[in-house]
Amino acid sequence: IDDSVQNKNITLDDIFISVKTTKHYQYTRLPIILKTWFQLAKKQIWFFTDIENRQHQNQTNGHMVNTNCSASHQRKHLCCKMSVEYDHFLESGKKWFCHFDDDNYVNIPRLVVALQKYNHQEDWYLGRTSVNEPVQIYKKPTNELMFSFWFATGGAGFCISRSLALKMLPVASGGRFISICEKIRLPDDVSMGFIIEHLMKKNLTLVNEFHSHLEQMKLLPPESFREQISFSYAKAKDEWNVVDVPGFDTRYDPSRFLSLHCFLFPQFKFCPR
Ligand code: UDP
Ligand code: MN
Repeated sequence: IDDSVQNKNITLDDIFISVKTTKHYQYTRLPIILKTWFQLAKKQIWFFTDIENRQHQNQTNGHMVNTNCSASHQRKHLCCKMSVEYDHFLESGKKWFCHFDDDNYVNIPRLVVALQKYNHQEDWYLGRTSVNEPVQIYKKPTNELMFSFWFATGGAGFCISRSLALKMLPVASGGRFISICEKIRLPDDVSMGFIIEHLMKKNLTLVNEFHSHLEQMKLLPPESFREQISFSYAKAKDEWNVVDVPGFDTRYDPSRFLSLHCFLFPQFKFCPR
């Protein structure tokens, strides 16, 4: 595959963008997304949550999917959401499945351009690893290495081509993804890596423009913001791990996502001019 050949046929409408969210974040994280990058892909973004909220349903034109998965951070329930996200993608008929967390900022135009480099009719698993070594599975009790695999960290976002998603259908569709999570006892994003790398024998392709809060966000230079696909934020004790971007007061915009959005898209109504 020649990466320099751009598949200009891919447009925003070929991408199914799923955002995992939950009851606990409906009035904190979700409103930031709705105000910013959701506005750039209202028809393509779907939220996967665990609660009914009439106001959000109206604001998104019915794009809030109540997964009926429990509102908890337990592996089983997070895998439940990923499973529903994947099934909805299959149903959508779109060419690309891109998953993000609700503490991501997605640079929508850049996501589209990035996917134009790859052919959705080939098998692609694009993302960023969270650790510098693959997951290693050992046999008990001899501690013999059985196999290892890489996975794309869900907190940075990842994309899967339709071709690959269809190959996973026998093992992952219709809720079977949850069974795999339970069998291997690993989180949803790790289970995705297990299915793709170990079962499908397709390798993760590293795309460094995806970012999670496992990295230090302030190390991203503003000159590069336009080239990045995703950003994140986190608060540990009193310390915020956020993008260093000029803009609104930190009390008004602690995540810095409103400021980041105005940095990238200054024409938005809420941006200062
Ligand atoms: N999340 C969820 N249910 C929960 C807790 C979290 O669906 O009970 C989602 C949350 O909305 C986010 C992702 O899981 O999209 C990661 O959550 P968080 O950022 O709180 O934790 P992290 O894994 O990044 O430490
Ligand atoms: Mn997070």
